[in-house]
Amino acid sequence: MKAILIIADGLGGRPTDYNGKTCLESANTPNLDKLSDIGINGLLDPIRPGVRPGSDTAHLSIFGYDPEKVYTGRGVFEALGIGMEVKDGDICFRANLATVDDDFRVIDRRAGRINEGLKEIEKAINGIEMEDVEIIYKSSVEHRGALIIRGENLSHNITDADPHKVGVKVTKVKALSREKSARRTAEIVNKFIQKSYQVLKDLPINRKREREGKLPANIVLLRGASIKPEIEPFHELYGIEGSAIAGGALYLGIAKAIGLKAIKPEGATGRKDSDLISKVKAALEELDEGKDFVFIHFKGADSCAHDHDAKSKIEFIERIDQAVGYLLENVDLDDAHIAFTGDHSTPIEFGDHSADPVPIVIAGKNVMPDDVKRFSERAAMKGGLGRISGRVIPILFGYCDWLEKFGA
Ligand code: ZN
Ligand code: ZN
Repeated sequence: MKAILIIADGLGGRPTDYNGKTCLESANTPNLDKLSDIGINGLLDPIRPGVRPGSDTAHLSIFGYDPEKVYTGRGVFEALGIGMEVKDGDICFRANLATVDDDFRVIDRRAGRINEGLKEIEKAINGIEMEDVEIIYKSSVEHRGALIIRGENLSHNITDADPHKVGVKVTKVKALSREKSARRTAEIVNKFIQKSYQVLKDLPINRKREREGKLPANIVLLRGASIKPEIEPFHELYGIEGSAIAGGALYLGIAKAIGLKAIKPEGATGRKDSDLISKVKAALEELDEGKDFVFIHFKGADSCAHDHDAKSKIEFIERIDQAVGYLLENVDLDDAHIAFTGDHSTPIEFGDHSADPVPIVIAGKNVMPDDVKRFSERAAMKGGLGRISGRVIPILFGYCDWLEKFGA
């Protein structure tokens, strides 16, 4: 028996999305509808009703962990996801190369999506000397990267330096708790950000960009401070070895943090242009090579919804449907159980994650089919799973007969 979990990020929507329908309802999805027809359907509150999930906390919850116990922030997943080594006590951040004026007012949070000189910038940032802490920076794609502060007596209980908007000054980082270590870390981060400007502003690559009328990457903005979380590895929790297929660093990092093999296949970008079939092929290879479980993550629908772009979200859902069609052609549902859902809703008007539940379907030979024939938020209301909170993996693994008995 094999198990496959597919998460379409930001899948769910509202009737206000597109002509009185959600994007999922508006999309042509024959393969997802087939899954609904042969499977059991329902609504999933990724964490629990009334909680607006982040993608990271939602994934942890769907995998069967309690995010309120294990979640320490986003930065550590970003660092792990781009291949950094994280040690106990390290403070990890998501880092953006950005552009500020000489008054530290943010002009662009992404430094014109800089895509050149990233090695030069990385080297300059890693050369920044701080008293008794080490700075480790790694750039990933364009303006994105992760940063680790390594040293004694540090805390992740601090605010973000990234103001999350332009035209305002870089936010002064503050301690979120009364511990000395939090105040000390906040001071270190503030000092580091000042130094990053001093070091980056006159870098040859930035001089060149300014001559060409492009925005210089003259500051590092940090957010999502976190430490290495204490998480029971997936294979210890379930006794199952698994792989995760994703394009985005955050998702690869979550997979690594729980001990799944993380794979970014060729053509997977974590963006709207990602090659979805290549992801399914990578998943099939992992199953062929002996893994019992694979997780596939598709990001694009969420990004389209953050941009309030209903048509692109519908198109992306249709591409996901084709990838699911390819999967269904290549797996035997007598030997595999498939769960398909989202990690939260991202309605078009709102443009951000909402607390609305998402549809879920599970199919395979041990599943009792219900009367639902279409995969959508509305149709799922009538499904046999009812309304569930998180913990999709235990439910999926239950159908595979992989769960330990509770009691005698
Ligand atoms: Zn998400
Ligand atoms: Zn999102």
